[in-house]
Amino acid sequence: NRDLANQSIAVIGYGITGRACVRFLLSQQATVCVFDRDVNIQETVKSDTNVKAAVFEPDMSLSSFSIVVVSPGVSPHLPCFATYREQGGVLIGDIELFAWFNKTPLIGITGSNGKTTVTDMLGKVLNSAGLHVELAGNYGKCAVDLLLEQAHTATPAMDIVVLELSSYQLEMTESLQLEFATILNITEDHLDRHGSFEAYKAAKQRIFNMAKNIVVCRDEVFSYPLAMELNEVGITNMSTRICAEVGLLNSLTGYSVGEILVSDSLSNSSIDSRSSHLAQSIAEPCIQFNGSALVALSDLHLKGSHNYINIMIVLAICDQLSLDRQLTIKAICDYKGLPHRFETIRVSTLEVAGKASTITWINDSKSTNVGACQAALACFTKSDDYLVLIAGGDAKGVDLSPLKKIIDSQVNQLIVLGKDAHKFIELIPNAIHVRNLQEAVATSLSLIQKADRANAVVLLSPACASLDMFVNYQDRGNMFASAVNEQVA
Ligand code: ADP
Repeated sequence: NRDLANQSIAVIGYGITGRACVRFLLSQQATVCVFDRDVNIQETVKSDTNVKAAVFEPDMSLSSFSIVVVSPGVSPHLPCFATYREQGGVLIGDIELFAWFNKTPLIGITGSNGKTTVTDMLGKVLNSAGLHVELAGNYGKCAVDLLLEQAHTATPAMDIVVLELSSYQLEMTESLQLEFATILNITEDHLDRHGSFEAYKAAKQRIFNMAKNIVVCRDEVFSYPLAMELNEVGITNMSTRICAEVGLLNSLTGYSVGEILVSDSLSNSSIDSRSSHLAQSIAEPCIQFNGSALVALSDLHLKGSHNYINIMIVLAICDQLSLDRQLTIKAICDYKGLPHRFETIRVSTLEVAGKASTITWINDSKSTNVGACQAALACFTKSDDYLVLIAGGDAKGVDLSPLKKIIDSQVNQLIVLGKDAHKFIELIPNAIHVRNLQEAVATSLSLIQKADRANAVVLLSPACASLDMFVNYQDRGNMFASAVNEQVA
Protein backbone atom coordinates (compact mmCIF):
# COMPACT_ATOMS: atom_id res chain seq x y z
CA ASN A 1 0.00 0.00 0.00
CA ARG A 2 1.18 3.47 -0.81
CA ASP A 3 0.43 6.53 1.21
CA LEU A 4 -1.21 9.03 -1.10
CA ALA A 5 -2.26 11.48 1.61
CA ASN A 6 -1.44 15.08 0.65
CA GLN A 7 0.30 13.98 -2.54
CA SER A 8 -0.40 16.19 -5.50
CA ILE A 9 -1.90 13.94 -8.20
CA ALA A 10 -3.11 14.81 -11.70
CA VAL A 11 -5.91 12.80 -13.33
CA ILE A 12 -5.91 13.12 -17.11
CA GLY A 13 -9.30 12.52 -18.71
CA TYR A 14 -12.61 12.91 -16.88
CA GLY A 15 -14.70 10.09 -18.30
CA ILE A 16 -15.99 7.09 -16.37
CA THR A 17 -12.47 5.92 -15.43
CA GLY A 18 -11.14 9.39 -14.59
CA ARG A 19 -14.11 10.06 -12.31
CA ALA A 20 -13.58 6.75 -10.49
CA CYS A 21 -9.88 7.57 -10.02
CA VAL A 22 -10.75 10.98 -8.57
CA ARG A 23 -13.20 9.38 -6.11
CA PHE A 24 -10.60 6.89 -4.96
CA LEU A 25 -7.75 9.41 -4.71
CA LEU A 26 -9.92 11.73 -2.63
CA SER A 27 -10.72 8.83 -0.30
CA GLN A 28 -6.95 8.55 0.22
CA GLN A 29 -6.72 12.28 1.08
CA ALA A 30 -4.69 13.08 -2.02
CA THR A 31 -4.75 16.57 -3.54
CA VAL A 32 -6.27 16.01 -6.96
CA CYS A 33 -6.26 18.12 -10.12
CA VAL A 34 -8.28 17.05 -13.19
CA PHE A 35 -7.31 17.78 -16.80
CA ASP A 36 -9.53 17.12 -19.82
CA ARG A 37 -9.69 18.30 -23.43
CA ASP A 38 -13.27 19.46 -22.82
CA VAL A 39 -13.22 23.28 -22.71
CA ASN A 40 -16.01 23.21 -20.13
CA ILE A 41 -14.11 20.88 -17.80
CA GLN A 42 -14.09 23.32 -14.89
CA GLU A 43 -17.88 23.55 -14.79
CA THR A 44 -18.26 19.79 -15.28
CA VAL A 45 -15.93 18.97 -12.40
CA LYS A 46 -17.41 21.68 -10.17
CA SER A 47 -20.82 20.05 -10.39
CA ASP A 48 -19.34 16.79 -8.95
CA THR A 49 -16.65 17.79 -6.50
CA ASN A 50 -14.55 20.78 -5.49
CA VAL A 51 -11.20 19.56 -6.88
CA LYS A 52 -9.25 21.83 -9.22
CA ALA A 53 -9.68 21.33 -12.97
CA ALA A 54 -8.15 22.76 -16.14
CA VAL A 55 -8.16 22.18 -19.88
CA PHE A 56 -5.60 19.57 -20.96
CA GLU A 57 -2.86 20.65 -23.37
CA PRO A 58 -0.65 17.93 -24.95
CA ASP A 59 2.50 19.99 -24.28
CA MET A 60 1.67 21.24 -20.78
CA SER A 61 4.07 20.84 -17.85
CA LEU A 62 3.15 18.21 -15.27
CA SER A 63 6.27 18.60 -13.14
CA SER A 64 4.38 19.86 -10.09
CA PHE A 65 2.61 16.50 -9.66
CA SER A 66 4.11 13.53 -7.82
CA ILE A 67 1.87 11.09 -9.73
CA VAL A 68 -0.05 11.43 -13.01
CA VAL A 69 -2.94 9.01 -13.69
CA VAL A 70 -3.80 8.77 -17.40
CA SER A 71 -7.24 7.49 -18.48
CA PRO A 72 -7.20 4.62 -21.00
CA GLY A 73 -8.71 6.88 -23.67
CA VAL A 74 -5.78 9.32 -23.55
CA SER A 75 -2.59 8.38 -25.39
CA PRO A 76 0.37 8.17 -22.97
CA HIS A 77 2.70 8.97 -25.89
CA LEU A 78 1.96 12.71 -25.95
CA PRO A 79 4.92 15.08 -25.44
CA CYS A 80 3.89 16.22 -21.93
CA PHE A 81 3.99 12.62 -20.68
CA ALA A 82 7.37 11.88 -22.28
CA THR A 83 8.85 14.96 -20.61
CA TYR A 84 7.22 14.11 -17.27
CA ARG A 85 8.71 10.59 -17.39
CA GLU A 86 12.16 11.90 -18.33
CA GLN A 87 11.97 14.10 -15.25
CA GLY A 88 11.35 10.99 -13.14
CA GLY A 89 7.59 11.47 -12.77
CA VAL A 90 5.34 8.50 -11.93
CA LEU A 91 3.00 8.04 -14.90
CA ILE A 92 0.37 5.31 -14.38
CA GLY A 93 -3.02 4.09 -15.57
CA ASP A 94 -6.10 3.21 -13.51
CA ILE A 95 -5.20 -0.50 -13.34
CA GLU A 96 -1.79 0.30 -11.84
CA LEU A 97 -3.47 2.49 -9.23
CA PHE A 98 -5.81 -0.42 -8.49
CA ALA A 99 -2.86 -2.84 -8.25
CA TRP A 100 -1.18 -0.70 -5.60
CA PHE A 101 -4.10 -1.24 -3.21
CA ASN A 102 -5.92 -4.39 -4.29
CA LYS A 103 -6.13 -7.35 -1.89
CA THR A 104 -8.37 -9.74 -3.86
CA PRO A 105 -7.08 -12.58 -6.10
CA LEU A 106 -7.20 -11.57 -9.75
CA ILE A 107 -7.70 -13.24 -13.13
CA GLY A 108 -6.65 -11.14 -16.14
CA ILE A 109 -8.07 -11.58 -19.64
CA THR A 110 -6.72 -9.85 -22.72
CA GLY A 111 -6.65 -10.42 -26.49
CA SER A 112 -7.77 -8.64 -29.62
CA ASN A 113 -11.10 -10.48 -29.59
CA GLY A 114 -13.14 -12.44 -27.08
CA LYS A 115 -12.13 -10.57 -23.91
CA THR A 116 -15.63 -9.52 -22.92
CA THR A 117 -17.18 -12.88 -23.76
CA VAL A 118 -14.61 -14.77 -21.66
CA THR A 119 -14.75 -12.27 -18.79
CA ASP A 120 -18.54 -12.31 -18.68
CA MET A 121 -18.83 -16.10 -18.98
CA LEU A 122 -16.15 -16.68 -16.35
CA GLY A 123 -18.01 -14.31 -14.03
CA LYS A 124 -21.26 -16.24 -14.45
CA VAL A 125 -19.57 -19.61 -13.98
CA LEU A 126 -17.66 -18.54 -10.85
CA ASN A 127 -20.87 -17.06 -9.48
CA SER A 128 -22.69 -20.31 -10.03
CA ALA A 129 -19.99 -21.99 -7.93
CA GLY A 130 -21.01 -19.73 -5.05
CA LEU A 131 -18.09 -17.33 -5.30
CA HIS A 132 -18.57 -13.61 -4.96
CA VAL A 133 -16.94 -12.45 -8.16
CA GLU A 134 -16.61 -8.95 -9.55
CA LEU A 135 -15.91 -8.09 -13.20
CA ALA A 136 -13.82 -5.00 -13.73
CA GLY A 137 -11.32 -3.18 -15.91
CA ASN A 138 -12.25 -2.69 -19.53
CA TYR A 139 -15.63 -4.37 -18.81
CA GLY A 140 -17.85 -4.23 -15.76
CA LYS A 141 -16.87 -1.88 -12.96
CA CYS A 142 -13.94 0.51 -12.90
CA ALA A 143 -11.26 -1.42 -11.05
CA VAL A 144 -10.58 1.42 -8.59
CA ASP A 145 -14.25 1.46 -7.56
CA LEU A 146 -13.69 -2.04 -6.18
CA LEU A 147 -11.07 -0.62 -3.84
CA LEU A 148 -13.70 1.53 -2.17
CA GLU A 149 -15.91 -1.56 -1.78
CA GLN A 150 -12.96 -3.51 -0.35
CA ALA A 151 -12.26 -0.70 2.11
CA HIS A 152 -15.82 -0.47 3.37
CA THR A 153 -16.25 -4.02 4.59
CA ALA A 154 -14.41 -5.78 7.38
CA THR A 155 -14.86 -9.27 5.91
CA PRO A 156 -13.46 -9.80 2.40
CA ALA A 157 -15.85 -7.98 0.08
CA MET A 158 -15.23 -10.36 -2.82
CA ASP A 159 -13.54 -13.70 -3.44
CA ILE A 160 -12.15 -13.02 -6.87
CA VAL A 161 -11.98 -10.30 -9.52
CA VAL A 162 -11.92 -11.01 -13.25
CA LEU A 163 -10.21 -8.11 -15.02
CA GLU A 164 -10.73 -7.52 -18.71
CA LEU A 165 -7.55 -5.70 -19.73
CA SER A 166 -7.14 -3.65 -22.89
CA SER A 167 -3.78 -2.99 -24.51
CA TYR A 168 -4.16 0.65 -23.39
CA GLN A 169 -4.47 -0.46 -19.78
CA LEU A 170 -1.67 -3.04 -19.93
CA GLU A 171 0.66 -0.48 -21.43
CA MET A 172 0.32 1.61 -18.25
CA THR A 173 0.52 -1.21 -15.69
CA GLU A 174 3.58 -2.59 -13.88
CA SER A 175 2.75 -4.14 -10.54
CA LEU A 176 -0.45 -6.08 -11.05
CA GLN A 177 -0.33 -9.59 -9.57
CA LEU A 178 -2.53 -12.04 -11.47
CA GLU A 179 -3.28 -15.57 -10.32
CA PHE A 180 -4.26 -16.44 -13.89
CA ALA A 181 -3.77 -14.65 -17.18
CA THR A 182 -4.57 -15.34 -20.77
CA ILE A 183 -4.00 -13.68 -24.13
CA LEU A 184 -6.77 -15.12 -26.27
CA ASN A 185 -5.29 -13.96 -29.58
CA ILE A 186 -3.56 -10.98 -31.13
CA THR A 187 -4.53 -9.67 -34.54
CA GLU A 188 -4.08 -6.19 -35.99
CA ASP A 189 -6.09 -3.53 -34.20
CA HIS A 190 -5.65 -0.08 -32.66
CA LEU A 191 -2.57 0.62 -34.78
CA ASP A 192 -3.65 4.26 -34.85
CA ARG A 193 -2.95 4.43 -31.10
CA HIS A 194 0.02 2.07 -30.65
CA GLY A 195 1.87 3.09 -33.81
CA SER A 196 2.79 -0.43 -34.93
CA PHE A 197 1.71 -4.05 -34.59
CA GLU A 198 4.93 -4.71 -32.64
CA ALA A 199 4.04 -2.06 -30.06
CA TYR A 200 0.45 -3.36 -29.77
CA LYS A 201 1.71 -6.93 -29.28
CA ALA A 202 4.28 -5.81 -26.72
CA ALA A 203 1.58 -4.00 -24.71
CA LYS A 204 -0.52 -7.18 -24.59
CA GLN A 205 2.44 -9.43 -23.77
CA ARG A 206 3.06 -7.36 -20.64
CA ILE A 207 0.24 -9.35 -19.00
CA PHE A 208 2.62 -12.32 -18.66
CA ASN A 209 5.00 -10.35 -16.53
CA MET A 210 2.26 -10.01 -13.98
CA ALA A 211 0.93 -13.57 -13.94
CA LYS A 212 1.56 -16.70 -11.90
CA ASN A 213 -0.39 -19.06 -14.15
CA ILE A 214 -1.00 -18.72 -17.86
CA VAL A 215 -3.67 -20.43 -19.93
CA VAL A 216 -2.68 -20.46 -23.60
CA CYS A 217 -4.52 -21.04 -26.87
CA ARG A 218 -2.50 -23.55 -28.81
CA ASP A 219 -3.38 -22.22 -32.25
CA GLU A 220 -2.57 -18.59 -31.45
CA VAL A 221 1.14 -17.92 -31.62
CA PHE A 222 0.85 -14.67 -29.66
CA SER A 223 -1.07 -16.37 -26.88
CA TYR A 224 2.29 -17.74 -25.67
CA PRO A 225 4.96 -15.66 -23.98
CA LEU A 226 7.16 -14.74 -26.91
CA ALA A 227 10.57 -15.86 -25.73
CA MET A 228 12.27 -14.10 -28.60
CA GLU A 229 10.80 -10.82 -27.54
CA LEU A 230 11.05 -11.20 -23.79
CA ASN A 231 13.89 -8.78 -23.46
CA GLU A 232 12.43 -6.27 -25.84
CA VAL A 233 9.17 -6.03 -23.97
CA GLY A 234 10.81 -6.29 -20.60
CA ILE A 235 9.24 -9.54 -19.45
CA THR A 236 11.33 -10.71 -16.56
CA ASN A 237 8.98 -12.84 -14.52
CA MET A 238 10.41 -16.30 -15.09
CA SER A 239 8.34 -17.91 -12.34
CA THR A 240 5.31 -17.77 -14.63
CA ARG A 241 3.93 -21.20 -15.44
CA ILE A 242 1.80 -22.36 -18.32
CA CYS A 243 -0.90 -24.31 -16.51
CA ALA A 244 -3.21 -25.23 -19.37
CA GLU A 245 -3.39 -25.23 -23.13
CA VAL A 246 -6.59 -25.18 -25.09
CA GLY A 247 -6.90 -25.81 -28.78
CA LEU A 248 -9.08 -26.96 -31.62
CA LEU A 249 -8.48 -30.29 -33.12
CA ASN A 250 -9.08 -30.78 -36.81
CA SER A 251 -9.55 -34.45 -36.59
CA LEU A 252 -9.30 -36.99 -39.34
CA THR A 253 -13.00 -37.59 -38.95
CA GLY A 254 -13.69 -34.18 -40.43
CA TYR A 255 -15.23 -32.16 -37.64
CA SER A 256 -13.61 -29.78 -35.27
CA VAL A 257 -13.46 -30.76 -31.68
CA GLY A 258 -11.93 -28.84 -28.90
CA GLU A 259 -9.85 -30.09 -26.10
CA ILE A 260 -8.21 -28.83 -23.00
CA LEU A 261 -4.75 -30.12 -22.44
CA VAL A 262 -3.13 -29.60 -19.14
CA SER A 263 0.62 -29.53 -19.11
CA ASP A 264 3.35 -28.18 -16.92
CA SER A 265 5.64 -27.01 -19.62
CA LEU A 266 5.58 -25.60 -23.11
CA SER A 267 7.04 -28.67 -24.73
CA ASN A 268 4.57 -31.46 -24.24
CA SER A 269 5.53 -33.77 -27.04
CA SER A 270 2.65 -36.14 -26.46
CA ILE A 271 0.02 -33.56 -27.33
CA ASP A 272 -0.38 -34.26 -31.00
CA SER A 273 -0.40 -38.02 -31.01
CA ARG A 274 -2.76 -38.07 -28.06
CA SER A 275 -5.15 -35.60 -29.62
CA SER A 276 -5.54 -37.24 -32.97
CA HIS A 277 -5.99 -40.64 -31.39
CA LEU A 278 -8.74 -39.24 -29.22
CA ALA A 279 -10.44 -37.38 -32.00
CA GLN A 280 -11.02 -40.56 -33.94
CA SER A 281 -12.51 -42.37 -31.01
CA ILE A 282 -15.09 -39.71 -30.18
CA ALA A 283 -18.36 -39.96 -32.03
CA GLU A 284 -19.89 -36.55 -31.49
CA PRO A 285 -18.26 -33.10 -31.72
CA CYS A 286 -17.46 -32.19 -28.17
CA ILE A 287 -15.04 -30.48 -25.85
CA GLN A 288 -12.59 -32.92 -24.37
CA PHE A 289 -10.27 -32.82 -21.46
CA ASN A 290 -7.22 -35.03 -21.62
CA GLY A 291 -9.11 -37.46 -23.77
CA SER A 292 -12.50 -37.66 -22.15
CA ALA A 293 -15.55 -35.96 -23.57
CA LEU A 294 -16.78 -33.18 -21.30
CA VAL A 295 -19.57 -31.47 -23.17
CA ALA A 296 -21.19 -31.99 -26.56
CA LEU A 297 -21.10 -28.89 -28.75
CA SER A 298 -24.82 -29.39 -29.40
CA ASP A 299 -25.50 -28.73 -25.69
CA LEU A 300 -23.97 -25.23 -25.87
CA HIS A 301 -25.80 -22.02 -26.66
CA LEU A 302 -22.60 -20.41 -27.93
CA LYS A 303 -21.64 -21.49 -31.41
CA GLY A 304 -18.53 -21.22 -33.55
CA SER A 305 -14.92 -22.31 -33.11
CA HIS A 306 -13.93 -19.00 -31.52
CA ASN A 307 -16.56 -19.51 -28.85
CA TYR A 308 -15.40 -23.08 -28.22
CA ILE A 309 -11.98 -21.62 -27.50
CA ASN A 310 -13.55 -19.07 -25.15
CA ILE A 311 -15.42 -21.85 -23.35
CA MET A 312 -12.29 -23.97 -22.99
CA ILE A 313 -10.41 -21.05 -21.46
CA VAL A 314 -13.17 -20.71 -18.88
CA LEU A 315 -13.19 -24.46 -18.24
CA ALA A 316 -9.42 -24.57 -17.86
CA ILE A 317 -9.36 -21.74 -15.32
CA CYS A 318 -12.23 -23.25 -13.32
CA ASP A 319 -10.50 -26.63 -13.32
CA GLN A 320 -7.34 -25.00 -12.05
CA LEU A 321 -9.38 -23.38 -9.28
CA SER A 322 -10.63 -26.91 -8.41
CA LEU A 323 -14.26 -26.00 -8.91
CA ASP A 324 -16.80 -28.77 -9.31
CA ARG A 325 -16.48 -29.65 -12.98
CA GLN A 326 -20.13 -30.67 -13.42
CA LEU A 327 -21.33 -27.35 -12.01
CA THR A 328 -18.91 -25.51 -14.29
CA ILE A 329 -20.19 -27.38 -17.33
CA LYS A 330 -23.80 -26.72 -16.39
CA ALA A 331 -23.13 -22.99 -16.06
CA ILE A 332 -21.29 -22.96 -19.41
CA CYS A 333 -24.20 -24.76 -21.10
CA ASP A 334 -26.60 -22.19 -19.59
CA TYR A 335 -24.48 -19.26 -20.81
CA LYS A 336 -26.24 -17.45 -23.66
CA GLY A 337 -23.55 -14.99 -24.76
CA LEU A 338 -23.70 -11.21 -25.06
CA PRO A 339 -25.65 -9.12 -27.56
CA HIS A 340 -23.91 -7.96 -30.78
CA ARG A 341 -21.43 -10.85 -30.70
CA PHE A 342 -22.33 -13.43 -33.33
CA GLU A 343 -25.90 -13.18 -32.05
CA THR A 344 -28.75 -14.78 -33.98
CA ILE A 345 -31.37 -12.05 -33.86
CA ARG A 346 -34.04 -13.52 -36.09
CA VAL A 347 -34.88 -16.56 -38.16
CA SER A 348 -37.30 -15.69 -40.95
CA THR A 349 -38.79 -17.42 -43.94
CA LEU A 350 -39.09 -16.17 -47.46
CA GLU A 351 -41.28 -17.65 -50.16
CA VAL A 352 -39.05 -18.40 -53.16
CA ALA A 353 -40.68 -19.97 -56.23
CA GLY A 354 -43.29 -21.69 -54.10
CA LYS A 355 -40.72 -23.04 -51.61
CA ALA A 356 -39.87 -21.60 -48.20
CA SER A 357 -36.33 -20.36 -47.75
CA THR A 358 -35.11 -19.99 -44.16
CA ILE A 359 -32.97 -16.94 -43.40
CA THR A 360 -30.86 -16.68 -40.25
CA TRP A 361 -29.93 -13.08 -39.38
CA ILE A 362 -26.76 -12.72 -37.31
CA ASN A 363 -25.73 -9.51 -35.58
CA ASP A 364 -21.97 -9.49 -35.02
CA SER A 365 -21.67 -5.71 -34.80
CA LYS A 366 -18.94 -6.05 -32.15
CA SER A 367 -16.72 -7.39 -34.95
CA THR A 368 -14.64 -4.22 -35.20
CA ASN A 369 -11.47 -5.76 -36.62
CA VAL A 370 -10.35 -8.29 -39.21
CA GLY A 371 -9.79 -11.08 -36.65
CA ALA A 372 -13.38 -11.00 -35.40
CA CYS A 373 -14.77 -11.12 -38.95
CA GLN A 374 -12.47 -14.03 -39.81
CA ALA A 375 -13.67 -15.85 -36.69
CA ALA A 376 -17.31 -15.29 -37.69
CA LEU A 377 -16.75 -16.52 -41.25
CA ALA A 378 -14.85 -19.57 -40.00
CA CYS A 379 -18.11 -20.71 -38.37
CA PHE A 380 -19.55 -21.48 -41.80
CA THR A 381 -18.18 -24.54 -43.44
CA LYS A 382 -18.77 -24.76 -47.16
CA SER A 383 -22.35 -25.87 -47.44
CA ASP A 384 -25.49 -25.27 -49.39
CA ASP A 385 -26.38 -22.25 -47.29
CA TYR A 386 -26.28 -18.93 -49.13
CA LEU A 387 -24.13 -16.53 -47.10
CA VAL A 388 -24.39 -12.74 -47.34
CA LEU A 389 -21.78 -10.75 -45.42
CA ILE A 390 -22.40 -7.09 -44.55
CA ALA A 391 -19.13 -5.35 -43.70
CA GLY A 392 -17.43 -1.95 -43.68
CA GLY A 393 -17.05 1.13 -41.53
CA ASP A 394 -13.81 2.63 -40.25
CA ALA A 395 -10.99 0.10 -40.76
CA LYS A 396 -8.72 2.09 -38.44
CA GLY A 397 -5.84 1.99 -40.89
CA VAL A 398 -5.32 -1.79 -40.85
CA ASP A 399 -4.72 -4.04 -43.83
CA LEU A 400 -7.97 -5.78 -44.82
CA SER A 401 -6.35 -8.22 -47.26
CA PRO A 402 -6.28 -11.18 -44.78
CA LEU A 403 -10.06 -11.27 -45.30
CA LYS A 404 -9.89 -11.89 -49.04
CA LYS A 405 -9.29 -15.62 -48.97
CA ILE A 406 -12.02 -16.44 -46.47
CA ILE A 407 -14.55 -14.13 -48.15
CA ASP A 408 -13.77 -15.70 -51.53
CA SER A 409 -14.28 -19.19 -50.14
CA GLN A 410 -17.21 -18.68 -47.74
CA VAL A 411 -19.27 -15.69 -48.81
CA ASN A 412 -21.73 -15.75 -51.70
CA GLN A 413 -22.20 -12.01 -51.76
CA LEU A 414 -20.42 -9.22 -49.91
CA ILE A 415 -22.33 -6.00 -49.19
CA VAL A 416 -20.29 -3.01 -48.01
CA LEU A 417 -20.97 0.36 -46.44
CA GLY A 418 -19.22 3.15 -44.58
CA LYS A 419 -16.01 5.14 -44.76
CA ASP A 420 -13.74 2.32 -45.94
CA ALA A 421 -16.23 0.51 -48.22
CA HIS A 422 -13.91 1.24 -51.16
CA LYS A 423 -11.11 -0.76 -49.48
CA PHE A 424 -13.34 -3.84 -49.49
CA ILE A 425 -14.25 -3.20 -53.13
CA GLU A 426 -10.55 -3.05 -54.06
CA LEU A 427 -10.24 -6.50 -52.49
CA ILE A 428 -13.54 -8.02 -53.66
CA PRO A 429 -14.54 -6.16 -56.84
CA ASN A 430 -18.05 -7.65 -57.06
CA ALA A 431 -19.04 -6.33 -53.62
CA ILE A 432 -22.27 -4.33 -53.61
CA HIS A 433 -21.94 -0.83 -52.17
CA VAL A 434 -24.92 0.41 -50.10
CA ARG A 435 -25.52 3.66 -48.22
CA ASN A 436 -26.94 2.28 -44.98
CA LEU A 437 -28.11 -0.85 -43.14
CA GLN A 438 -31.71 -0.54 -44.37
CA GLU A 439 -30.40 -0.80 -47.91
CA ALA A 440 -28.11 -3.66 -46.90
CA VAL A 441 -31.06 -5.65 -45.53
CA ALA A 442 -33.22 -4.92 -48.59
CA THR A 443 -30.37 -5.95 -50.90
CA SER A 444 -29.83 -9.16 -48.91
CA LEU A 445 -33.50 -10.07 -49.27
CA SER A 446 -33.50 -9.59 -53.02
CA LEU A 447 -30.27 -11.58 -53.40
CA ILE A 448 -31.73 -14.46 -51.39
CA GLN A 449 -34.90 -14.31 -53.45
CA LYS A 450 -32.82 -14.82 -56.59
CA ALA A 451 -30.49 -17.41 -55.06
CA ASP A 452 -33.32 -19.88 -54.49
CA ARG A 453 -31.72 -21.93 -51.68
CA ALA A 454 -33.39 -23.69 -48.78
CA ASN A 455 -31.21 -21.88 -46.24
CA ALA A 456 -29.53 -18.51 -46.20
CA VAL A 457 -27.56 -16.54 -43.61
CA VAL A 458 -27.16 -12.78 -43.47
CA LEU A 459 -24.21 -11.90 -41.26
CA LEU A 460 -23.42 -8.35 -40.14
CA SER A 461 -19.73 -8.67 -39.17
CA PRO A 462 -18.22 -5.35 -40.23
CA ALA A 463 -14.48 -5.92 -39.44
CA CYS A 464 -14.47 -2.16 -38.83
CA ALA A 465 -15.27 0.37 -36.13
CA SER A 466 -18.74 1.88 -36.29
CA LEU A 467 -17.99 5.50 -35.42
CA ASP A 468 -18.04 6.80 -39.02
CA MET A 469 -21.81 6.17 -39.24
CA PHE A 470 -23.10 5.18 -35.79
CA VAL A 471 -22.87 6.26 -32.15
CA ASN A 472 -21.13 2.96 -31.30
CA TYR A 473 -21.25 -0.75 -32.14
CA GLN A 474 -24.45 -1.21 -30.07
CA ASP A 475 -26.18 1.48 -32.12
CA ARG A 476 -25.02 -0.23 -35.34
CA GLY A 477 -26.30 -3.62 -34.10
CA ASN A 478 -29.62 -2.13 -33.00
CA MET A 479 -30.07 -0.37 -36.37
CA PHE A 480 -29.44 -3.69 -38.11
CA ALA A 481 -32.00 -5.44 -35.90
CA SER A 482 -34.58 -2.70 -36.57
CA ALA A 483 -34.00 -2.87 -40.32
CA VAL A 484 -34.41 -6.66 -40.22
CA ASN A 485 -37.57 -6.48 -38.13
CA GLU A 486 -39.07 -3.80 -40.38
CA GLN A 487 -38.38 -5.62 -43.64
CA VAL A 488 -38.82 -9.25 -42.71
CA ALA A 489 -42.22 -10.87 -42.57
P1 ADP B 1 -13.51 -7.99 -27.03
O1 ADP B 1 -14.00 -7.62 -25.66
O2 ADP B 1 -12.10 -8.51 -27.03
O3 ADP B 1 -13.79 -6.98 -28.10
P2 ADP B 1 -15.92 -9.62 -27.47
O4 ADP B 1 -16.20 -10.80 -26.63
O5 ADP B 1 -16.70 -8.38 -27.21
O6 ADP B 1 -14.35 -9.32 -27.42
O7 ADP B 1 -16.11 -10.02 -29.01
C1 ADP B 1 -15.68 -9.14 -30.06
C2 ADP B 1 -15.81 -9.80 -31.40
O8 ADP B 1 -14.89 -10.89 -31.48
C3 ADP B 1 -17.17 -10.39 -31.70
O9 ADP B 1 -17.39 -10.20 -33.08
C4 ADP B 1 -17.02 -11.86 -31.36
O10 ADP B 1 -17.89 -12.70 -32.09
C5 ADP B 1 -15.56 -12.13 -31.73
N1 ADP B 1 -14.88 -13.13 -30.88
C6 ADP B 1 -15.25 -13.57 -29.66
N2 ADP B 1 -14.35 -14.45 -29.18
C7 ADP B 1 -13.39 -14.59 -30.12
C8 ADP B 1 -12.18 -15.36 -30.21
N3 ADP B 1 -11.78 -16.16 -29.25
N4 ADP B 1 -11.45 -15.22 -31.35
C9 ADP B 1 -11.82 -14.40 -32.35
N5 ADP B 1 -12.95 -13.67 -32.32
C10 ADP B 1 -13.73 -13.74 -31.22
